[in-house]
Amino acid sequence: MTTANAYPVTQTIRTIGILGGGQLGMMLAEAAMPLGYQCVFLEDNPECPASLYGHVFHSDQLADFIAAADVFTLEFENTPTSTVEQLTSVSKSGSKQGMFPPLIALDIAQDRLKEKQMFNALDIATVPFMEVNSEAELKQACEALGLPIVLKTSRGGYDGKGQFVIKQESDIKTAWLALKDAVSGKGSLTPTPAPLIAEGFINFNREVSIIAARAQNGQIRCYDLVENHHHHGILAKTQAPAVGTSHLLQQATDAITKIMNHLDYVGVMALELFVTKDARGHTTILANEIAPRVHNSGHWSIEGAVTSQFENHIRAVVNLPLGDTDNVHPAIMVNVLGQYPDISAVLNIDGAHYHSYHKAERDDRKIAHITLMPNDVTDLESAMAKLVAVLPNKVGLDKEYGNIDTHSNTADAKAKNDVLEDNSGEADSLAELSPKTEKAKK
Ligand code: AMP
Repeated sequence: MTTANAYPVTQTIRTIGILGGGQLGMMLAEAAMPLGYQCVFLEDNPECPASLYGHVFHSDQLADFIAAADVFTLEFENTPTSTVEQLTSVSKSGSKQGMFPPLIALDIAQDRLKEKQMFNALDIATVPFMEVNSEAELKQACEALGLPIVLKTSRGGYDGKGQFVIKQESDIKTAWLALKDAVSGKGSLTPTPAPLIAEGFINFNREVSIIAARAQNGQIRCYDLVENHHHHGILAKTQAPAVGTSHLLQQATDAITKIMNHLDYVGVMALELFVTKDARGHTTILANEIAPRVHNSGHWSIEGAVTSQFENHIRAVVNLPLGDTDNVHPAIMVNVLGQYPDISAVLNIDGAHYHSYHKAERDDRKIAHITLMPNDVTDLESAMAKLVAVLPNKVGLDKEYGNIDTHSNTADAKAKNDVLEDNSGEADSLAELSPKTEKAKK
């Protein structure tokens, strides 16, 4: 493992080239500007959110994009690895300052099988899983893992797409028919052939994530564990810090540290985790996936941490010292999905911060986020209630845990939710959230 920057340093960085131009790119550019950097983007939609902050190059203009930037990073993990390879090699030739994070991180994050194999090789626990390439192998996996299982495409799925819950034997054929095109490379999610992955279905209590930044000299700084609530695989809400998880923070920190060091990673990474019970009945975490980029569950850090995940990512990419990741104030971040709320009604709520992504309204699309940080932390619960009242789309904002988009398999989705709701009694009350108690436990 090398910890020094592997690229020759040739020039001063002025412009950061970002692969992708969505809201993550937009917020990276917002963080880069006060530090004195500008951003350009490689993105096929000229009206993308990031277009407000810098020039957008079409993917046909890769050479111009390369010429315009001094160093490269990404905000979209399904970026073709061939592009990242090219940016890595121009950097290695000495004409650019580097491509961060490294290609290997992207290669692993794009493949659920490689990702879970890496976790296990690093001694990081996951749900049991098996590779599936045929209906016969799917049957074997169902027998070996025991039903229910979650069948997923190993590549190309996002926000819960490309997943199917198999609850009983009669679902096996339907699940295979729904996802088999991925194996032959005919599916819309995976243009190249890629196996499926069968995962044991975990009755998790909660979903949490940890975000960390790693600098070019190998220094790592971790944010607090946060709790995530999804609706049909889309993040609806993040609570930072996650209540009552300080005993899991070390385990999560160790896991993300091992992963980042193993990949010689540079930049911000998120690790998504399930909280569950081990064989002895002790609460523990299982790794689900990494995101080799800034992450939706870290948006709260713009206002809620000493240094935001966006600023720390930029600092890592341009080789500046990382900033403090401490939580300065408990926060709740809510994604605005599909329809914009009345902004003045939102800002009437004490401690509400609004971030629009300047996108057109569309069903379940992430178009903005709101972070609630009322002065008095005991007002968080009432601030949340006020926010829910003014949001046109309230999905996922109840105490619902874990949803999988099962295509048209709504009966299974319902069955899964029934199982999950059995666990929701363990959900913490927002009223428990006090900076004093959280800090004391650290
Ligand atoms: P993923 O695309 O792997 O992040 O999955 C989307 C969501 O589906 C997760 O956030 C969980 O709520 C749920 N999920 C994924 N894998 C499993 C599993 N093996 N068992 C139970 N729920 C799962």
